[in-house]
Amino acid sequence: MIDKDRLILEFENLVKIESPSRKEGAIAHYVADIFEALGYKCFFDKSAEATGSEVGNLIVKIPGSVPSSPLFFCAHLDTVGPCENPKVIFEDGIFRTDGRTILGADDKAAIAILIEVAKILKENALPHPPIEYIFTTCEEIGLLGAKSLDASLVDSREGFVLDSENPWEVINGAPSSYRFELKVKGISAHAGLEPEKGVNAIHALSQVISSLPTGRIDEETTMNIGVIRGGNFVNIVPDEAVAEGEIRSHQEFKLEELQKLIIERAKKIIEEYSLKREGFPKLFHHFEKIYSAFYIPPEDELCQLVKKAGEKIGLNMVFRRKEGASDANVFNEKGFKCLILGIGMQKVHTTEEYIALKDMIITTNLILEILRIKSESVE
Ligand SMILES: [Zn+2]
Repeated sequence: MIDKDRLILEFENLVKIESPSRKEGAIAHYVADIFEALGYKCFFDKSAEATGSEVGNLIVKIPGSVPSSPLFFCAHLDTVGPCENPKVIFEDGIFRTDGRTILGADDKAAIAILIEVAKILKENALPHPPIEYIFTTCEEIGLLGAKSLDASLVDSREGFVLDSENPWEVINGAPSSYRFELKVKGISAHAGLEPEKGVNAIHALSQVISSLPTGRIDEETTMNIGVIRGGNFVNIVPDEAVAEGEIRSHQEFKLEELQKLIIERAKKIIEEYSLKREGFPKLFHHFEKIYSAFYIPPEDELCQLVKKAGEKIGLNMVFRRKEGASDANVFNEKGFKCLILGIGMQKVHTTEEYIALKDMIITTNLILEILRIKSESVE
């Protein structure tokens, strides 16, 4: 049923349309035109105001041919860089670029797969539940499209994000993450003429940082300080230093504990700082939740649906948790039940990114099978 040549051509067309985050306008309209030509209604939500993208999230409604509850499938429209003028090379069943740019299989392979699925359903008049395709913007810069999605446009309560590597792996859990900033304020002074009047913010902050844990905290929790800023001139005692970091865990309570530990240790170091003067250094801290953890047990109906569909096409589906975030974190937080499916993309976010056509075909078949089983389970 799958038209290989059509899938190849569609994927290549999508790759050629540059779509860095916030510049998804061209690809969104290209995709909407395809579904409108198939006779399906397309909606853009108003998320562009919040995300700063050229367009809102695109929602496509494919009416069901059986009276079943609807399912959604989501892919993101944006890619990371470098993505200027990509040249796609298809050789021995593998898509890659000439090495100057990323390929953007993350997540355009998913878009191509969803287009192929819709065409197959239509031309073969296959029974299927109501389907909603959600194409989000700005996923790569903090899941912004999904966060601002107008959920009132979506009828489905459950579905899938197509945004992972191996087609036989189902991601059924992902961690929660906080971003944080620790800022130390000191007093500036000339470093040579009157250093005793200054309080060195960099010196104080470095003591805070060295008192904190880093790396893997336990098997499901990590911490990193990834950015440090402060000072402008070597002959001035710096009056401000900032460290930025993140913490991730599959357990929300562990993040709350870690946050408390970071703040308490930092406060203590600054309070006991030996070179204090006039109430300085002072500590400022800010923690912000970036996304929430989720976990859907393998016994769950949605997991079982994928497992059965996999078996039908000869795949032994494996469930595993992921360390990174995707739109699925946001969907689950918003009350949708959402798993992540693999599409075959490999070495994503590098110029060596590639994808095998056979993996895209496997995922296409998996989705067709999910839809078939779902439409057969209608009483
Ligand atoms: Zn992605």
